[in-house]
Amino acid sequence: MKTGGRSGRKQVRKPRLSFELGELLDRLEVVYGRSRYINRFDPMEELVSCILSQNTADANSFPSFIRLRAAVPDWAEMELMPVEELELLIKKAGLAKQKARSIQAALGAIREKFGMYSLDDLRNWEVEQARDWLTTIPGVGPKTASIVLCFALGRDTVPVDTHIHRVGKRLGIFSEGMDANRAHEVMDLLVEPGQGFRIHNTLIQHGRQTCMAPIPNCAACVIRDDCRWFKRVGPEKLREQMRKKRTGGKRVSG
Ligand code: SF4
Repeated sequence: MKTGGRSGRKQVRKPRLSFELGELLDRLEVVYGRSRYINRFDPMEELVSCILSQNTADANSFPSFIRLRAAVPDWAEMELMPVEELELLIKKAGLAKQKARSIQAALGAIREKFGMYSLDDLRNWEVEQARDWLTTIPGVGPKTASIVLCFALGRDTVPVDTHIHRVGKRLGIFSEGMDANRAHEVMDLLVEPGQGFRIHNTLIQHGRQTCMAPIPNCAACVIRDDCRWFKRVGPEKLREQMRKKRTGGKRVSG
């Protein structure tokens, strides 16, 4: 059964790329290795773990999630417990006040929608509808929603984090001003069946190790022949622009 609702917003167009995405990934995987899909959590656990991981390193949020699940294995108890107690249990993950309220709001929304603490029904929804519904939950953005759909439910969608957003803009997958919400929709148009996790993981590795911010290491990049940013701007021009900005256009000696 397909359910959920479309938001009615203007649809994004599939971008015309100068490369074939699968072939681009093949080349990147020679450098970073082939990603292996590991289903860490069930969808409920993935959602709560994701909320805990917002604005903090995994090294802080993951132990908090393990401690929380050990202390409160029952979702109903987690939803109904005093929020201050929940805050204490997740304190190490940071922003505990906000995250405790998001977790309880998410549990309440899921119980009301599905009559139980389970997101398994989302397997049968359109990806866009499922993401739209998940993002109605306070504290759940498109990236968190896509992580649940891709990692825990095996759906064909690509979570777009800051690295993928940057790499995607440079490659011309996303237009310059496109925000991360729309970027998720573009990725939905490009993803081939079963390729969501692979695209996510490979582009993240590229963004972390080579296509960094603010200045990418294009000299070491195996896909630069297909990169729009490299052809139009390139690191030298960027360095010159940054220098001019710093000095107000004056030449600096030494
Ligand atoms: S050529 Fe440079 S900007 Fe383009 S993808 Fe490679 S590292 Fe990134």
